[in-house]
Amino acid sequence: MTESEDVRNEGFDDALDAVAEGEGYYLECSNGHGSLPPRRVCPDCGDTELTEQRLPASGEIDTYTVTHVATPNFADDAPYVVAIADFGPVRLTGQLRGVDPDAVETGQVVGVDVATTETTGERLLVFERR
Ligand SMILES: [Zn+2]
Repeated sequence: MTESEDVRNEGFDDALDAVAEGEGYYLECSNGHGSLPPRRVCPDCGDTELTEQRLPASGEIDTYTVTHVATPNFADDAPYVVAIADFGPVRLTGQLRGVDPDAVETGQVVGVDVATTETTGERLLVFERR
């Protein structure tokens, strides 16, 4: 593993820790673009003046996919729903928990948390209905 990958994974873990503690954040550049950590440069304009801003407590499901047959890393999680939720300045991707895959609709309000996958125990972002 290269040094840059170490740094990126460390930043990702920090971001998950923050979400798990209810203190999730996103990065905002001086031009007001929101992006997700870890990052050193704004993906929209290249600005390097990024500040941490509090993630909104809830977002709305923008789009989602239901997976019935999963890759080996998620085999025991299937069927599951992966959603992209609009949290205002940023869009988050996570697994939707506690909702029947047939009952998911766009526009549903969700909060974000951190959980582990059934299959590998790896941490990931999850959404839960609010
Ligand atoms: Zn920017």
